Amino acid sequence: MRQATVYIDREALQYNLNRVKQLAPTAKIVSMVKANAYGHGVKDCLAALQDSDAFGVACLQEALEIRELGFQQPITLIEGIFSADEMQIAIDHEIECLVHHQQQLDWLRAHKDAYIAKNLKVWVKLNSGMNRLGFKVTEIIDVIHTLKAEGFTCVLVMHFANADADNHPLNDQQRAQFLQVKEACAPIMASCCNSAAIYKWPELNFDFVRPGIMLYGASPFADKTIHDLDLKPVMTFTAEIIALNTIQAGESVGYGSTFVADNDIELAIVSIGYGDGYPRAFPKQNYVSINGQQAPLIGRVAMDMIAIDTTGLNVQIGAKVELWGKTRLVDDVAETNGTIGYELLCRLSARPVRKTN
Ligand SMILES: *Cc1c(COP(=O)(O)O)cnc(C)c1O
Repeated sequence: MRQATVYIDREALQYNLNRVKQLAPTAKIVSMVKANAYGHGVKDCLAALQDSDAFGVACLQEALEIRELGFQQPITLIEGIFSADEMQIAIDHEIECLVHHQQQLDWLRAHKDAYIAKNLKVWVKLNSGMNRLGFKVTEIIDVIHTLKAEGFTCVLVMHFANADADNHPLNDQQRAQFLQVKEACAPIMASCCNSAAIYKWPELNFDFVRPGIMLYGASPFADKTIHDLDLKPVMTFTAEIIALNTIQAGESVGYGSTFVADNDIELAIVSIGYGDGYPRAFPKQNYVSINGQQAPLIGRVAMDMIAIDTTGLNVQIGAKVELWGKTRLVDDVAETNGTIGYELLCRLSARPVRKTN
Protein backbone atom coordinates (compact mmCIF):
# COMPACT_ATOMS: atom_id res chain seq x y z
CA MET A 1 0.00 0.00 0.00
CA ARG A 2 1.17 3.50 -0.77
CA GLN A 3 2.54 5.07 2.38
CA ALA A 4 1.84 8.74 2.92
CA THR A 5 0.96 9.09 6.56
CA VAL A 6 -0.08 11.85 8.92
CA TYR A 7 0.67 10.66 12.43
CA ILE A 8 -0.83 12.64 15.33
CA ASP A 9 0.96 12.42 18.69
CA ARG A 10 -1.76 13.07 21.23
CA GLU A 11 0.67 13.08 24.13
CA ALA A 12 2.48 15.98 22.47
CA LEU A 13 -0.86 17.75 22.10
CA GLN A 14 -1.54 17.32 25.82
CA TYR A 15 1.96 18.47 26.63
CA ASN A 16 1.43 21.67 24.65
CA LEU A 17 -1.97 22.26 26.27
CA ASN A 18 -0.21 21.99 29.62
CA ARG A 19 2.27 24.59 28.42
CA VAL A 20 -0.65 26.96 27.90
CA LYS A 21 -1.79 26.25 31.47
CA GLN A 22 1.67 27.04 32.80
CA LEU A 23 1.86 30.28 30.84
CA ALA A 24 -1.71 31.43 31.57
CA PRO A 25 -2.58 29.77 34.88
CA THR A 26 -5.55 31.97 35.74
CA ALA A 27 -7.18 32.19 32.32
CA LYS A 28 -9.66 29.77 30.84
CA ILE A 29 -8.39 28.07 27.68
CA VAL A 30 -10.32 28.29 24.44
CA SER A 31 -8.42 25.76 22.29
CA MET A 32 -8.61 26.83 18.68
CA VAL A 33 -9.58 23.83 16.55
CA LYS A 34 -10.71 25.66 13.42
CA ALA A 35 -9.76 24.31 9.99
CA ASN A 36 -9.97 20.72 11.21
CA ALA A 37 -7.67 21.43 14.15
CA TYR A 38 -5.12 23.18 11.93
CA GLY A 39 -5.17 20.18 9.60
CA HIS A 40 -4.52 17.66 12.38
CA GLY A 41 -8.06 16.23 12.32
CA VAL A 42 -10.56 17.40 14.90
CA LYS A 43 -11.68 13.83 15.50
CA ASP A 44 -8.15 12.79 16.50
CA CYS A 45 -7.42 15.86 18.61
CA LEU A 46 -10.44 16.64 20.77
CA ALA A 47 -9.92 13.88 23.33
CA ALA A 48 -6.36 15.07 23.95
CA LEU A 49 -7.72 18.62 24.34
CA GLN A 50 -10.47 17.45 26.71
CA ASP A 51 -9.09 19.60 29.53
CA SER A 52 -9.69 22.78 27.53
CA ASP A 53 -12.40 25.04 28.94
CA ALA A 54 -13.83 25.66 25.47
CA PHE A 55 -13.18 25.25 21.78
CA GLY A 56 -12.92 27.96 19.13
CA VAL A 57 -13.95 27.44 15.51
CA ALA A 58 -14.52 29.57 12.43
CA CYS A 59 -18.01 28.46 11.43
CA LEU A 60 -21.14 26.63 12.49
CA GLN A 61 -20.27 23.47 10.51
CA GLU A 62 -17.03 23.12 12.45
CA ALA A 63 -18.91 23.58 15.74
CA LEU A 64 -21.55 21.00 14.85
CA GLU A 65 -18.82 18.49 14.05
CA ILE A 66 -17.55 18.87 17.62
CA ARG A 67 -21.05 18.27 19.00
CA GLU A 68 -21.50 15.23 16.72
CA LEU A 69 -18.31 13.79 18.17
CA GLY A 70 -19.97 14.09 21.58
CA PHE A 71 -18.00 16.92 23.17
CA GLN A 72 -20.06 19.20 25.44
CA GLN A 73 -17.60 22.01 26.18
CA PRO A 74 -18.60 25.56 25.30
CA ILE A 75 -17.79 26.43 21.69
CA THR A 76 -17.18 29.93 20.34
CA LEU A 77 -17.78 30.89 16.73
CA ILE A 78 -14.92 33.37 16.37
CA GLU A 79 -16.48 35.08 13.37
CA GLY A 80 -20.04 34.60 14.58
CA ILE A 81 -22.81 33.36 12.34
CA PHE A 82 -22.94 34.15 8.63
CA SER A 83 -26.72 34.23 8.12
CA ALA A 84 -29.87 34.64 10.22
CA ASP A 85 -30.90 30.99 9.94
CA GLU A 86 -27.76 29.87 11.77
CA MET A 87 -28.77 31.48 15.07
CA GLN A 88 -31.42 28.93 16.05
CA ILE A 89 -29.08 26.06 15.18
CA ALA A 90 -26.32 27.63 17.27
CA ILE A 91 -28.66 28.02 20.24
CA ASP A 92 -29.99 24.47 19.91
CA HIS A 93 -26.43 23.13 20.12
CA GLU A 94 -25.28 25.61 22.76
CA ILE A 95 -22.75 27.29 20.51
CA GLU A 96 -21.67 30.81 21.47
CA CYS A 97 -21.56 33.58 18.89
CA LEU A 98 -19.24 36.45 18.35
CA VAL A 99 -20.74 39.67 17.01
CA HIS A 100 -18.70 42.01 14.84
CA HIS A 101 -21.32 43.96 12.86
CA GLN A 102 -24.79 45.39 13.29
CA GLN A 103 -26.64 42.66 11.37
CA GLN A 104 -25.28 39.99 13.71
CA LEU A 105 -26.63 42.03 16.63
CA ASP A 106 -30.07 42.02 14.99
CA TRP A 107 -29.94 38.25 14.47
CA LEU A 108 -28.91 37.82 18.10
CA ARG A 109 -31.67 40.08 19.45
CA ALA A 110 -34.30 38.18 17.45
CA HIS A 111 -33.43 35.15 19.65
CA LYS A 112 -32.59 37.02 22.83
CA ASP A 113 -34.61 35.00 25.35
CA ALA A 114 -33.54 31.60 24.03
CA TYR A 115 -29.89 32.67 23.90
CA ILE A 116 -29.88 33.99 27.45
CA ALA A 117 -31.87 31.03 28.75
CA LYS A 118 -29.06 28.71 27.60
CA ASN A 119 -26.47 30.83 29.48
CA LEU A 120 -24.54 31.50 26.28
CA LYS A 121 -22.02 34.32 26.31
CA VAL A 122 -21.82 36.92 23.55
CA TRP A 123 -18.29 37.60 22.30
CA VAL A 124 -18.12 41.23 21.19
CA LYS A 125 -15.30 42.04 18.82
CA LEU A 126 -13.26 45.22 18.98
CA ASN A 127 -11.54 46.45 15.82
CA SER A 128 -8.52 48.13 17.32
CA GLY A 129 -6.57 48.53 14.12
CA MET A 130 -6.29 45.13 12.44
CA ASN A 131 -9.24 46.24 10.33
CA ARG A 132 -10.68 42.85 9.54
CA LEU A 133 -13.63 42.40 11.91
CA GLY A 134 -15.17 44.33 14.75
CA PHE A 135 -16.76 47.49 16.06
CA LYS A 136 -14.53 50.52 16.30
CA VAL A 137 -13.62 51.87 19.69
CA THR A 138 -16.13 54.70 19.21
CA GLU A 139 -19.05 52.29 18.69
CA ILE A 140 -18.31 49.28 20.83
CA ILE A 141 -18.85 50.83 24.24
CA ASP A 142 -22.47 51.58 23.38
CA VAL A 143 -22.92 48.15 21.85
CA ILE A 144 -21.71 46.46 25.02
CA HIS A 145 -23.65 48.69 27.38
CA THR A 146 -26.84 47.97 25.45
CA LEU A 147 -26.21 44.21 25.33
CA LYS A 148 -25.55 44.15 29.06
CA ALA A 149 -28.71 46.16 29.76
CA GLU A 150 -30.67 43.62 27.70
CA GLY A 151 -29.37 40.83 29.95
CA PHE A 152 -26.59 39.36 27.79
CA THR A 153 -23.30 38.19 29.32
CA CYS A 154 -20.51 39.69 27.24
CA VAL A 155 -16.86 38.93 26.58
CA LEU A 156 -14.78 41.69 25.03
CA VAL A 157 -12.59 40.18 22.27
CA MET A 158 -9.70 41.53 20.27
CA HIS A 159 -7.02 40.05 18.01
CA PHE A 160 -3.50 41.41 17.58
CA ALA A 161 -2.22 41.96 14.03
CA ASN A 162 1.44 41.82 15.09
CA ALA A 163 1.65 39.73 18.23
CA ASP A 164 4.57 37.89 16.62
CA ALA A 165 6.56 41.10 16.05
CA ASP A 166 8.68 42.98 18.55
CA ASN A 167 8.01 46.67 18.94
CA HIS A 168 5.41 47.05 16.23
CA PRO A 169 3.69 50.41 16.87
CA LEU A 170 0.23 48.92 16.26
CA ASN A 171 0.67 46.63 19.26
CA ASP A 172 0.61 49.62 21.62
CA GLN A 173 -2.43 51.11 19.92
CA GLN A 174 -4.35 47.83 20.02
CA ARG A 175 -3.48 47.22 23.66
CA ALA A 176 -4.43 50.78 24.66
CA GLN A 177 -7.79 50.63 22.89
CA PHE A 178 -8.58 47.23 24.37
CA LEU A 179 -7.79 48.39 27.89
CA GLN A 180 -9.77 51.58 27.37
CA VAL A 181 -12.89 49.66 26.30
CA LYS A 182 -12.43 47.07 29.04
CA GLU A 183 -12.30 49.87 31.60
CA ALA A 184 -15.30 51.73 30.14
CA CYS A 185 -17.40 48.53 30.13
CA ALA A 186 -16.29 47.15 33.51
CA PRO A 187 -17.10 44.66 34.80
CA ILE A 188 -16.60 42.61 31.65
CA MET A 189 -14.75 39.42 30.74
CA ALA A 190 -11.93 39.86 28.24
CA SER A 191 -9.90 37.86 25.72
CA CYS A 192 -7.11 39.08 23.43
CA CYS A 193 -4.31 36.50 23.41
CA ASN A 194 -3.45 34.02 20.67
CA SER A 195 -0.34 31.84 20.97
CA ALA A 196 2.17 34.61 20.34
CA ALA A 197 0.45 36.97 22.79
CA ILE A 198 0.22 34.24 25.46
CA TYR A 199 4.02 34.06 25.41
CA LYS A 200 4.64 37.76 25.09
CA TRP A 201 2.12 39.49 27.31
CA PRO A 202 1.14 37.39 30.33
CA GLU A 203 -0.47 40.52 31.80
CA LEU A 204 -3.04 40.43 28.97
CA ASN A 205 -4.16 36.83 29.47
CA PHE A 206 -7.33 37.99 31.29
CA ASP A 207 -10.35 35.63 31.38
CA PHE A 208 -9.87 33.57 28.20
CA VAL A 209 -6.77 32.81 26.14
CA ARG A 210 -7.12 31.46 22.60
CA PRO A 211 -4.11 29.26 21.75
CA GLY A 212 -3.95 27.76 18.29
CA ILE A 213 -0.62 27.03 16.64
CA MET A 214 1.25 26.41 19.90
CA LEU A 215 -1.08 23.51 20.73
CA TYR A 216 0.04 21.77 17.57
CA GLY A 217 3.72 22.30 18.30
CA ALA A 218 4.60 24.87 15.68
CA SER A 219 6.00 28.31 16.39
CA PRO A 220 4.03 31.55 16.06
CA PHE A 221 7.33 33.45 15.86
CA ALA A 222 9.65 33.58 12.83
CA ASP A 223 12.68 33.98 15.11
CA LYS A 224 11.88 31.40 17.81
CA THR A 225 11.81 27.63 17.37
CA ILE A 226 9.51 25.26 19.23
CA HIS A 227 12.54 24.23 21.26
CA ASP A 228 12.94 27.83 22.45
CA LEU A 229 9.23 27.79 23.36
CA ASP A 230 9.27 24.31 24.95
CA LEU A 231 6.61 22.84 22.64
CA LYS A 232 6.44 19.39 21.04
CA PRO A 233 5.53 18.76 17.39
CA VAL A 234 2.17 17.00 17.17
CA MET A 235 2.14 16.01 13.49
CA THR A 236 4.64 13.75 11.78
CA PHE A 237 4.16 13.59 8.02
CA THR A 238 5.93 10.64 6.41
CA ALA A 239 6.18 8.73 3.15
CA GLU A 240 8.30 5.87 1.83
CA ILE A 241 11.08 5.33 -0.67
CA ILE A 242 9.50 3.50 -3.62
CA ALA A 243 12.41 3.43 -6.08
CA LEU A 244 16.19 3.93 -6.21
CA ASN A 245 18.19 5.23 -9.15
CA THR A 246 21.71 6.22 -10.00
CA ILE A 247 22.37 8.87 -12.62
CA GLN A 248 25.49 10.27 -14.20
CA ALA A 249 26.68 13.86 -14.43
CA GLY A 250 24.59 15.66 -17.04
CA GLU A 251 21.44 13.55 -16.58
CA SER A 252 18.27 15.18 -15.30
CA VAL A 253 15.41 14.26 -12.96
CA GLY A 254 11.67 14.86 -13.12
CA TYR A 255 9.29 17.20 -14.96
CA GLY A 256 10.86 20.04 -16.84
CA SER A 257 14.28 18.42 -16.30
CA THR A 258 14.99 21.30 -13.95
CA PHE A 259 17.59 19.36 -11.98
CA VAL A 260 20.71 18.34 -13.87
CA ALA A 261 23.32 16.33 -11.96
CA ASP A 262 26.82 17.85 -11.65
CA ASN A 263 28.26 14.52 -10.57
CA ASP A 264 27.13 10.93 -10.51
CA ILE A 265 24.49 10.66 -7.80
CA GLU A 266 22.23 8.16 -6.11
CA LEU A 267 18.64 9.27 -5.84
CA ALA A 268 15.46 7.95 -4.28
CA ILE A 269 11.85 8.45 -5.32
CA VAL A 270 9.47 9.07 -2.40
CA SER A 271 5.70 8.50 -2.37
CA ILE A 272 4.62 12.06 -1.65
CA GLY A 273 3.51 14.99 -3.79
CA TYR A 274 1.34 18.03 -4.01
CA GLY A 275 -1.67 15.69 -4.25
CA ASP A 276 -1.03 14.99 -0.56
CA GLY A 277 -0.62 18.65 0.31
CA TYR A 278 3.16 18.72 0.13
CA PRO A 279 4.14 22.06 -1.44
CA ARG A 280 5.30 22.13 -5.04
CA ALA A 281 7.29 25.36 -5.06
CA PHE A 282 10.38 25.69 -2.91
CA PRO A 283 12.11 29.04 -3.44
CA LYS A 284 14.87 27.74 -1.15
CA GLN A 285 16.45 24.29 -1.01
CA ASN A 286 14.23 21.95 1.00
CA TYR A 287 15.19 18.74 2.78
CA VAL A 288 13.57 15.60 4.08
CA SER A 289 14.84 13.50 6.96
CA ILE A 290 15.70 9.77 6.69
CA ASN A 291 16.92 7.98 9.81
CA GLY A 292 17.90 11.34 11.24
CA GLN A 293 19.92 12.29 8.12
CA GLN A 294 18.96 15.15 5.84
CA ALA A 295 18.45 14.54 2.13
CA PRO A 296 17.86 17.43 -0.32
CA LEU A 297 14.94 17.46 -2.73
CA ILE A 298 15.97 17.46 -6.38
CA GLY A 299 13.84 18.34 -9.39
CA ARG A 300 10.19 19.27 -9.28
CA VAL A 301 7.63 18.03 -6.79
CA ALA A 302 5.02 16.05 -8.75
CA MET A 303 1.48 15.13 -7.75
CA ASP A 304 2.44 11.78 -6.23
CA MET A 305 6.23 11.70 -6.06
CA ILE A 306 9.37 13.59 -5.20
CA ALA A 307 13.03 12.81 -5.85
CA ILE A 308 15.73 13.20 -3.21
CA ASP A 309 19.50 12.98 -3.39
CA THR A 310 20.56 10.02 -1.24
CA THR A 311 24.17 9.81 -2.35
CA GLY A 312 26.13 8.04 0.38
CA LEU A 313 23.10 7.52 2.63
CA ASN A 314 22.76 3.80 1.90
CA VAL A 315 18.95 3.81 1.90
CA GLN A 316 16.61 0.97 0.89
CA ILE A 317 13.24 0.75 -0.81
CA GLY A 318 10.60 0.94 1.91
CA ALA A 319 12.65 3.29 4.10
CA LYS A 320 10.55 5.86 5.93
CA VAL A 321 11.03 9.50 4.98
CA GLU A 322 9.97 12.32 7.32
CA LEU A 323 8.66 15.32 5.39
CA TRP A 324 8.08 17.16 8.62
CA GLY A 325 7.74 16.14 12.24
CA LYS A 326 10.07 15.76 15.18
CA THR A 327 13.34 15.87 13.22
CA ARG A 328 12.53 18.15 10.28
CA LEU A 329 10.34 20.84 11.82
CA VAL A 330 7.31 22.03 9.85
CA ASP A 331 8.42 25.60 10.54
CA ASP A 332 11.70 24.93 8.73
CA VAL A 333 9.95 23.35 5.74
CA ALA A 334 7.60 26.35 5.68
CA GLU A 335 10.55 28.71 5.63
CA THR A 336 12.00 27.05 2.51
CA ASN A 337 8.51 27.25 0.95
CA GLY A 338 8.16 30.98 1.70
CA THR A 339 5.24 30.43 4.07
CA ILE A 340 4.43 29.65 7.70
CA GLY A 341 3.86 26.34 9.47
CA TYR A 342 0.16 27.17 9.86
CA GLU A 343 -0.39 26.98 6.10
CA LEU A 344 1.45 23.72 5.51
CA LEU A 345 -0.45 22.04 8.34
CA CYS A 346 -3.85 23.29 7.19
CA ARG A 347 -3.52 22.53 3.52
CA LEU A 348 -2.83 18.80 3.68
CA SER A 349 -5.17 16.88 1.43
CA ALA A 350 -7.44 13.99 2.44
CA ARG A 351 -5.16 11.42 0.75
CA PRO A 352 -2.55 10.70 3.45
CA VAL A 353 -3.55 7.94 5.87
CA ARG A 354 -4.27 9.26 9.38
CA LYS A 355 -2.85 7.54 12.46
CA THR A 356 -2.67 8.41 16.16
CA ASN A 357 -1.19 7.01 19.36
C1 LIG B 1 -6.96 31.46 14.88
C2 LIG B 1 -7.21 32.42 15.97
C3 LIG B 1 -6.48 32.32 17.17
C4 LIG B 1 -5.31 31.40 17.36
O1 LIG B 1 -4.17 31.99 16.80
P1 LIG B 1 -2.74 31.26 16.88
O2 LIG B 1 -1.80 32.23 16.28
O3 LIG B 1 -2.85 30.02 16.06
O4 LIG B 1 -2.50 30.97 18.31
C5 LIG B 1 -6.86 33.14 18.21
N1 LIG B 1 -7.88 34.02 18.07
C6 LIG B 1 -8.57 34.15 16.92
C7 LIG B 1 -9.67 35.14 16.83
C8 LIG B 1 -8.25 33.36 15.84
O5 LIG B 1 -8.91 33.51 14.69
